[in-house]
Amino acid sequence: MNSKEIIEQYNSAVVCSYGRLDLALECASGAQGTDADGRSYIDFGSGIGTNSLGYADSEWADAVSGQAHKLQHVSNYYYNSTAAEFAARLTEMTGTDKLFFGNSGAEANECAIKIARKRSFDKYGDAGRTTIITLVNSFHGRTITTLSATGQEHFHNYFFPFTPGFKYVEANNIEALREAIDPTVCAIMFEFIQGEGGVNVLDQAFVDEIFALAAAHDLATISDEVQTGVGRTGRLLAAEHFGVKPDIVTLAKGLGGGLPIGVCLTRGEYADVLTPGTHGSTFGGNPVVCAGGLVVLRRLSDPAFMAELGKKAEYFKQSLEALPRVKSVSGLGLMLGAELDGIAAGDVMKKALDEGLLVLMAKAKLRCLPPLTITYEQIDAGMAILSGILRKEE
Ligand SMILES: *Cc1c(COP(=O)(O)O)cnc(C)c1O
Repeated sequence: MNSKEIIEQYNSAVVCSYGRLDLALECASGAQGTDADGRSYIDFGSGIGTNSLGYADSEWADAVSGQAHKLQHVSNYYYNSTAAEFAARLTEMTGTDKLFFGNSGAEANECAIKIARKRSFDKYGDAGRTTIITLVNSFHGRTITTLSATGQEHFHNYFFPFTPGFKYVEANNIEALREAIDPTVCAIMFEFIQGEGGVNVLDQAFVDEIFALAAAHDLATISDEVQTGVGRTGRLLAAEHFGVKPDIVTLAKGLGGGLPIGVCLTRGEYADVLTPGTHGSTFGGNPVVCAGGLVVLRRLSDPAFMAELGKKAEYFKQSLEALPRVKSVSGLGLMLGAELDGIAAGDVMKKALDEGLLVLMAKAKLRCLPPLTITYEQIDAGMAILSGILRKEE
C-alpha cells in the first residue's frame, strides 16, 4: 500500500483523537526513516523522545527479539530475571531505592500521585491533606487524574468531573509558590523543563524553593521526568543539573528505547508506601520491554557515550541558534525549543515534513528531541532543511 492508502485505511478504523501529519513511515534506522512511498526523512523528533537510541538500534533489536523468543510475559504473580536486573540497575543508576513498573508516562504519574497521597494519609491520618501543587503550563498525562494535574485550562474540558485536589502555581514564581502552601498540601509535582508546555526550564532558585518548602512542611517532591529523563538533557536525570533529589521521580518516554514503559522511582520512606493490593498494572515489568530498556541503560552508563552526547547537544544547540529567524533557544541537552520570529512553528513543522525532516513543536516553539545517537552529518542535514525553509520565509 502507498502512504495515501495506509492513511485512509487507518483513519477509517481509528478514532480521530490526534491532529496528524500525512506521513506513513515504513522502516527506519538510526535517525533516518523511509515512508511507504520510498521518501526518506531525517528525524529530529525520535517519536516524541521515545526512540532514545534511534530506530532499530541493532543491539537493542537483538535484546528485544532474543527476549521475545525466550519469555515474553509472566504477570505480576511471578518474578523474572530481566525485570529484576532492569529495576536493580535503574534504581542504582538513579540513586533511588525502589520503583513501580507501569507502561506509560501517565501511568507512572498516577502512581506518583497515589504514593504521595497514601504517604500523607498513612502519616497524618488526615483525609484532607491531599492537595498536590503543580505548575501552570505543565503536562502530566491524559488520564482524568493526570489531566487534573496538568496546569493548562484547555485540558480541563468535556470529561467532567475531574479528580479534585490540584492547585496550579506559575513556574518560577517563588512568591506564588509560597502563598500556595496551606495545611491541605501534601506534595509539589513539577517538570524541570516543561516539555509540552514550551520547553521552559525552571530557575535554580525556584527549584531550591520547592525543596526548601517541601522540607519545611514535610511535602513530597515529585519530579515528572517522563520527557527530561533517560539522557535527554545530557544527564541520566535532569535533577542532576539542579543538584536535588526528589522523593519520587517518574520516567517513561525514552526508557524502553521505543517500547512502552513508565516507572515511578521512589526514595526513602516513599519506597514502602505501596503495600500488596494497593496498586498494580498487568503489563508492568514486561520482560521484552525491560530487555530493550537494559540496552538503553547500558548505553547511558558508558562515560564515552555520555561525553559524546554532551558534545553533540552543544553542536545541535549552536546550529539551531545560527538559523535565520531563530530568536532564542531554550532547553538542555537534546531537548531544545526554538522561538521563531514571524513564522508559526506549525507551518515550519509541515514544510519540514515536505522537505524530508521530522521535527516537533511545543506551544509557539519549534521543538527538537532527536535520538541520542544522531550523527553530526544528520544534524547538519536536518539543519540545512530548516535553514532553507526559514530563509525562504525571510
Ligand atoms: C509525554 C509526557 C507525559 C505522558 O506520557 P504518556 O506516555 O503519553 O502517558 C507525562 N509527562 C510528561 C512530562 C510528558 O512529556
